[in-house]
Amino acid sequence: MGLDEDSLEYHRIDPPGKIEISTTKPTNTQRDLSLAYSPGVAAPCNEIAKTPEEAYTYTSKGNMVGVVSNGTAVLGLGDIGAQASKPVMEGKGVLFKRFADIDVFDIEIDEDDPTEFAESVARMEPTFGGINLEDIKAPECFEIESRLREEMDIPVFHDDQHGTAIISGAALLNAAEITGKSLDELQIVFSGAGAAATATAHFYRSLGVRADNVTMCDIDGIITEARVADGDPHTYVEAFASPTGGELADAMAGADVFVGLSVGGIVSEEMVRSMADDPIIFAMANPEPEIDYETAKNARDDTVIMATGRSDYPNQVNNVLGFPFIFRGALDVRATEINEEMKVAAAEALADLAKQDVPDAVVKAYGDQPLQFGPEYIIPKPLDSRVLFEVSGAVAGAAMESGVAREELDLDAYREELEA
Ligand code: NAP
Ligand code: MG
Repeated sequence: MGLDEDSLEYHRIDPPGKIEISTTKPTNTQRDLSLAYSPGVAAPCNEIAKTPEEAYTYTSKGNMVGVVSNGTAVLGLGDIGAQASKPVMEGKGVLFKRFADIDVFDIEIDEDDPTEFAESVARMEPTFGGINLEDIKAPECFEIESRLREEMDIPVFHDDQHGTAIISGAALLNAAEITGKSLDELQIVFSGAGAAATATAHFYRSLGVRADNVTMCDIDGIITEARVADGDPHTYVEAFASPTGGELADAMAGADVFVGLSVGGIVSEEMVRSMADDPIIFAMANPEPEIDYETAKNARDDTVIMATGRSDYPNQVNNVLGFPFIFRGALDVRATEINEEMKVAAAEALADLAKQDVPDAVVKAYGDQPLQFGPEYIIPKPLDSRVLFEVSGAVAGAAMESGVAREELDLDAYREELEA
């Protein structure tokens, strides 16, 4: 059977779908039931009514994330609508549970208007410890997220934007180190100016990249100041607009880094040859990268550091390295948001972990290929269990330091607890 048929079968097997609710307290006796529900349940209700934060003590709020979508930009499938996006949102729930033991309600909302959508999500704050926005198209996703971040007192994180930014940011830190280039001197070209590329460009600034060293291209070529002034493509790329225009090929000549978050097959060997010494190429369009791995590696004799979104080549930029652990750390300190400090801490933790020796079990899980810090291994592997305590610990620590934690943790004890 092919992948499609296998997947339909996987989803169809009774019970349909991939998730269910289970209870966590005894329900065997009459007494148990009168504690779980009426009349006993009145006691925790009263505590929470007096002190809302007690919701973290008496309900599942603190381990519950809402994965929320309107289905307008689903995987590579496009605007397939809220109902059709449900398998993806359930799948995200599976990953949250598998990697960080976080419970998810997947919420599909049939609403394309950003204001209406944001209002619906904001009203769900009592249910959740955090909101993972998913597969919402650009530019609406920027407005929705920034409104919700302002309105809500729990973390709101659009993974398609920031997940990619953080994981590829970790890769960038290590690629720069290996090639001996400093972040504030890197000349970086982006292909794509959508959800992922826009957030990634902004995040690279937080890592030390200079906005005037960034050139962004979309389907119409280099995004210029004149185009932004005319309202094309969208204002969120204004900081990176160039004084002069041109094609992607013009932008790539002499660049240190290419970041592809657009479509497959648009970068040629010649374009790779035109880049600066030891170029860094993150070709992350899925499923087909902007240029394929072998072609980019073989285009020149010096070191080409290559990452893609694919699992069959080294350096896969896989969002599952980020969101489960970032939310784990944020929830465990009852953070009010996931701020820039926490994102940078996550990227740095991932970058540091890639420099440590890899346990045998992880090497085995990836078919015994050597995993050692260098051009072919700049980011950890998703099945490396150390990612949990490294990233969650770093995120929790950054939340406390930056003043968005409502709960103070002893970080060493917390890391040990996660490790156990
Ligand atoms: P998006 O919001 O739709 O953005 C796509 C961008 O690519 C738009 O700016 C679009 O320009 C541009 N584009 C389209 N065709 C182009 C072309 N021929 N040349 C140059 N630019 C072109 O999508 P997204 O969510 O940011 O994702 C973009 C890509 O990155 C997808 O392939 C996605 O699978 C991939 N991705 C990978 C990872 C990962 O590896 N971990 C994570 C996130 C995203 P216009 O606006 O002018 O149409
Ligand atoms: Mg997504």
